[in-house]
Amino acid sequence: MSLPYFSRGEVVRGFGRGSKELGIPTANFPDSVVEHLPGDISTGIYYGWACVGSGDIHKMVMSIGWNPYYKNTKKSMETHVIHTFKEDFYGQILSVVMVGYIRPERSYDSLDALIAAINHDIEEAKRNLELPEHLKLKEDNFFRATA
Ligand code: ADP
Ligand code: MG
Repeated sequence: MSLPYFSRGEVVRGFGRGSKELGIPTANFPDSVVEHLPGDISTGIYYGWACVGSGDIHKMVMSIGWNPYYKNTKKSMETHVIHTFKEDFYGQILSVVMVGYIRPERSYDSLDALIAAINHDIEEAKRNLELPEHLKLKEDNFFRATA
């Protein structure tokens, strides 16, 4: 699949895996948005820019994975926005642009190992997004079009 990839949709409830309890909440897109992904997209961790409603544009990491709810026959898209929000934003429109790929999905031996990996992804995303070609996408009209 070619990047950047732009996507937008309502934030829906996930399958309560307790991401928030890990300190890493992930905003889920509905099936209708996930179904628009190109069929050949690699599962794994992506990074890019995200904005909730007409709010500020923040860095993000996104996991595209196999959705256990559908016995791993469908994909899911979960975005962790690298920002501390005062409140949850279920029901709001999340706009994202995926600009780069970090790594494939994998399983971890412990929760600590998983959390460490995600924090590593977040650091890599923060660093890579400072590249001029990525900063440029933050200014894309996509984020300022009235949804
Ligand atoms: P769920 O299983 O419903 O996705 P999570 O524990 O993953 O639950 O929490 C996700 C929710 O947390 C999002 O839908 C959003 O409303 C809220 N949230 C708060 N801060 C963030 C953030 N920085 N990134 C993503 N979601 C966030
Ligand atoms: Mg989630």
